[in-house]
Amino acid sequence: MSAPALDAHTPFSIDSERLDSVRADVRTFLRAEIDAGTFVPACDSWMSGFDPEFSARLGSRGWLGVTIPEQYGGHGGSQLERVVIAEEVLAHGAPVAAHWIADRQMAPSLLNFGTEDQRQKYLPGIARGETFFAIGMSEPEAGSDLAAVRTRAVVDGDSWRLNGTKLWTTGAHLAHAMVVLARTDGEIGDRQKGLSQFVVDLPHPSVEIRPIHSIDGEAHFNEVVFHDAHLPQSALLGERGQGWTQVMSELAFERSGPERYLSTMPLLRAWVEELRRDGSSEEQQRTVGLLTARASTLRQMSQQVARELSAGGHPDVLAAMVKDLGSTFEGELVEQVRRASGVEPRFGGGRFAELLAQGVLHTPAFTLRGGTNEILRSIIGRGMGLR
Ligand SMILES: Cc1cc2nc3c(=O)[nH]c(=O)nc-3n(C[C@H](O)[C@H](O)[C@H](O)COP(=O)(O)OP(=O)(O)OC[C@H]3O[C@@H](n4cnc5c(N)ncnc54)[C@H](O)[C@@H]3O)c2cc1C
Repeated sequence: MSAPALDAHTPFSIDSERLDSVRADVRTFLRAEIDAGTFVPACDSWMSGFDPEFSARLGSRGWLGVTIPEQYGGHGGSQLERVVIAEEVLAHGAPVAAHWIADRQMAPSLLNFGTEDQRQKYLPGIARGETFFAIGMSEPEAGSDLAAVRTRAVVDGDSWRLNGTKLWTTGAHLAHAMVVLARTDGEIGDRQKGLSQFVVDLPHPSVEIRPIHSIDGEAHFNEVVFHDAHLPQSALLGERGQGWTQVMSELAFERSGPERYLSTMPLLRAWVEELRRDGSSEEQQRTVGLLTARASTLRQMSQQVARELSAGGHPDVLAAMVKDLGSTFEGELVEQVRRASGVEPRFGGGRFAELLAQGVLHTPAFTLRGGTNEILRSIIGRGMGLR
């Protein structure tokens, strides 16, 4: 049997013949791209690998907007088909950050809550890999406690006026639009009530986007300030006052996908390649075995969420479990590979040392982004009727 970490989990295949063939096509394409040097596999490439041309190439092959109906430029496929494609691009460390948020969560959100005009405006570009989105939820005083958002939108004649500050907004400086959670009614103390969502086209003359540098010196996320930004009435997404419910429905998509346990898989794959070439100790084999077993289990859980989403379910608790266990695994993988390989993480120290360095520097973000593990565990506790 071939090594699962290298061959993308074949032992636990959920795939039908059709999905097997999609997987094979995507894998062939990715290997050709690597061989042609169009990308170098990287850790956390769904967060930091911004390459619009690569996104457009995926789009032109029909591998984006898979679940978007054909009438909006998509392919009318299943959530599982999308997962198969996502598994492959992540395991190969492909640069997919440009389209990731739009394809993963804005397309379902626009389909669920958007007006016909909004769907026509954004969905075809998402499916082509040409329209990119950012998510404006977190604020300086509202991260884990998201219901404390202070950004406010007020009606002004036939438009909205938006004021406030969003924080940690991934990719806002490169996005064509940003979905913003804002208070439209009531006071901050009203919490979940009175929140609404807006689609803000970017760049916008009254929206200031300031880069925030992370520990690796790169600036993937931003502080975004709305200075009395005028938005057309048509910028409202869904129903006024239903923002909280809408955001919660997006979170299952955000928290459960394969990016929550595969961010550092390119490192494990590179290490296994080295071990195959140079030989391995028993301890190293045990480490590979343990990491592969954990990844395979997480994969089963993540796919279960995809199945439930496909069936119209709301698997919030299972999604929280996937993200808690998966994001912890991503960081532990880096540490265990570092120890068992004996290689020092270092940029300029060869391909493997560089992947290790990427993994080490990105690890602090894994259990924070998309909701911290403490918050996820409290969701699981609530799901068990404990509060
Ligand atoms: C790489 C990265 C990308 C991100 N991208 C985006 C984005 O695109 N859009 C966006 O809106 N946000 C984004 N975020 C923000 C992310 O969602 C928040 O960082 C996260 O929700 C935590 O909020 P906070 O940073 O305000 O921390 P806080 O909420 O202040 O939490 C600080 C610590 O206190 C703990 N804590 C807080 N409340 C509780 C509690 N009730 N019980 C127990 N422990 C608690 C937390 O678990 C955490 O350890 C991103 C974050 C990162 C790291």
